[in-house]
This record gives sequence, C-alpha cells and structure tokens, in this order.
Amino acid sequence: MKVLVLNCGSSSLKYQLINMDNEEILAKGLAERIGIENGLVKHEVAGKQKVIINENMDTHKDAIRIVINALVDVKHGAIKSMDEIVAVGHRIVHGGEKFTSSVIIDDEVKATLEECSELAPLHNPPNLMGIEACEEILPNVPMVGVFDTAFHQTMPKSAYIYALPYELYEKYKIRKYGFHGTSHKYVVNKAATVLGKPLEDLKIVTCHLGNGASLAAIKHGKSIDTSMGFTPLEGLTMGTRCGDIDPAITTFIMEKESLDTTGLNNLMNKKSGILGISGVSNDFRDVEEAADNGNERAQLALDLFYNRVKKYIGAYAAIMGGIDAVVFTAGLGENSPETREAVCEGLEFLGIKIDNVKNKVRGKQTVVTTDDSKVKVILIPTNEELMIARDTVALVKK
Ligand code: ADP
Repeated sequence: MKVLVLNCGSSSLKYQLINMDNEEILAKGLAERIGIENGLVKHEVAGKQKVIINENMDTHKDAIRIVINALVDVKHGAIKSMDEIVAVGHRIVHGGEKFTSSVIIDDEVKATLEECSELAPLHNPPNLMGIEACEEILPNVPMVGVFDTAFHQTMPKSAYIYALPYELYEKYKIRKYGFHGTSHKYVVNKAATVLGKPLEDLKIVTCHLGNGASLAAIKHGKSIDTSMGFTPLEGLTMGTRCGDIDPAITTFIMEKESLDTTGLNNLMNKKSGILGISGVSNDFRDVEEAADNGNERAQLALDLFYNRVKKYIGAYAAIMGGIDAVVFTAGLGENSPETREAVCEGLEFLGIKIDNVKNKVRGKQTVVTTDDSKVKVILIPTNEELMIARDTVALVKK
C-alpha cells in the first residue's frame, strides 16, 4: 500500500512516497519556488541518484504534476503508474477547535478548513491548494488531513485560555492551539517504547527544537500544555521568531518605529529570535560556530535559547507533578549535543544526569542519561511524514 504524503507551504511542497507494507520511503523530495521564477524540484529515490528538475511552477497543481511525473519516470521514478498511489496524506497546519484527530477529506472538511484559514493565513491556504490540486490530478484517490494542532486539543481550558476578555475567545476563537502536534505525538509514543512502560503511566516533556521550536507537557499520553500558542510565535526563542515577550512591547515598537501590523508581524516572525539577537544567522549551526569563535552576541542568543527551554521544562515538571523523561527531537534537538547538554545542565535536582559520552550522538535514537539517572533524557528522531502516512492508512482502511 503506497501512500503519498504532502506538506504544502506557501511557495514549497515537500513530499514522500511511503510503502506502508514495510514503512519504507520509496521517494522523497522538495519543490521550491512555486509561483516564483527559477522553480526547481529536488527528487530522490531510494537506491538512485538524486535529480534536480528545473521547471517553473505557477501553482501547487503544477508542482504536484511534476512530482507525480518524477515518481512514475522510467529513469528516476519509484513506481510504474500513478494508480499505485492508494491514498494521499496532507499535513495541515491549523485545525482550529474542530479537528481533534485526523480526518478523511471531504467537502465539509474543506469548508471547515476554509474557516480555519483566518487562524493560519500563511499556512492553511497553501494546504488547501495542495488538496484541491490532488483532487484534480488524482481523482478518486482518498485523502486524509493530519493537523499540527490536533494532538494538543486535549489541553485543559485553564491551559489554553488567555487572560483577555473572555468574549474574544467566544467571538474569534483566540486561544492557545499549539503546533508540531504530529511530531510530539510520534516521539512521545516512541519514548514509551524505549522506557518499556505504557504511555498512560508516564509524564514526559517533549522538546521539538528545529527552526520552529516548541515543547509539550504530555501527561499519561495527553498533551496538557505546549509552548506555541494562538500562532507558532509564542514560547521559545526560535530561528527568526521572538517567542515570549511582554505584549506591551508590540505597541511600543509600532509607535517608535512607525510600523503597521504587517511590519510588526514581519519583525517578530522573520527578524527576531536567534537571527535577531546574534545578527549572524537563523541557523543554529552558524550561530554555534560564531559563538565558538568568540562572538558574544551569538553566545547570548544561544544562552537565551537554552534558558528558555530549561524554564519550560521546569514549568512543565511542575504542572505534571514531576517527569519521567525529556525527549529531544527535530534538527537541533537531534543533532546538537551542545544544546541537550546546556539545557539539562543544572537539572540534576529534577533527577536528570546527562552522560557526556552517550550524549555525543547525532540523529540516532539514544538514551543520553546515565544508567542511574532517575529521569531519562532521550534523543528520538522525529518522523512526521510516517505519522501522517500511518493515520492515512488507518482512516482509509476504515
Ligand atoms: P524546520 O523543520 O523547522 O525547518 P528542522 O527540524 O529541519 O527545522 O531543523 C532545522 C534546524 O536544525 C537548522 O536551522 C539548524 O539550526 C538545526 N540543526 C540541524 N543540524 C544541526 C547540527 N548538526 N548542529 C546544530 N544545529 C543543527
């Protein structure tokens, strides 16, 4: 059973074709610069040389057509015909309060997604474009929507309501939603396997640290709090996002810098975070290197990031009444021993003892604490695509 997983961004499209009989990735790639000149698709098939297809794509439909053609290509393809694709799983960023789990996409779901677009104006419209393009190119192939927000819908009201006039929640659904849910859910389930205990008995903090970064407090398998909020801007300092700041700063900057709402949004989402503080880059590798070479602002950016992650771990340990494990995942969480070490430094009081030798690992599932560490710290590579494909199979088989 072959499932195509699509993640449509505003000008990009990531894809994976997965054989769900053995969960093997048959092909994967990335279409970039959709709607812009110099479009290209990076396409990779297991056991074959990577190819780059230079072709302009006006819309997501053009991109999906190129991807399908690449998948069935005699030379660099992975399947003989597109009939082999039995289902498509779409990553959808915002499911609002309506979607608490993955769903088969039909007209009603599409209409609801349209309603949610107001909550995620940058993300949901391209997700919908991807869905509509597939309907045309792969008619009769069932599609499933998997939401970044769904896993966090178990949060109690006291965690997701902001202390604004309550009518604003009722009128506009302003509340904490949380994101990266597919990743948090995937790694927490893996963590239970590693710990050899049922998820229902565990209290775990999952740290998804990539360019976008969030933590989740997962008590007995349910997300009870998470650091991202109404949008992905809240919480940790990220590559280019500011994370938590005093909300009064926003109106102050708008006045002082004569910024309108677009300008302010741009400043907080694109020019802040690690990039804004260091002035070096939004990529942690560059910032780590600059800090190693004595760049003080790069070091400050890292220290601020580590401190924020640590603070959230402490807060989540408090609301869960202790923790059994901390999981690190995503680009930085999986690949930066320095980050795991710096975040866990000083958390011995919680029962965390990092093993500096075991922690030297990158990208491989590993328990990085000492054998006698009461709380385990585990590196678990995330796999959102596989999670989407699994949900897709489960729903399509029903
Ligand atoms: P996203 O999916 O949000 O774009 P990823 O999970 O792919 O992000 O993470 C990307 C980030 O991970 C990069 O910006 C980089 O900062 C960080 N990263 C990746 N590899 C390393 C590494 N070896 N050392 C430090 N940071 C890394």
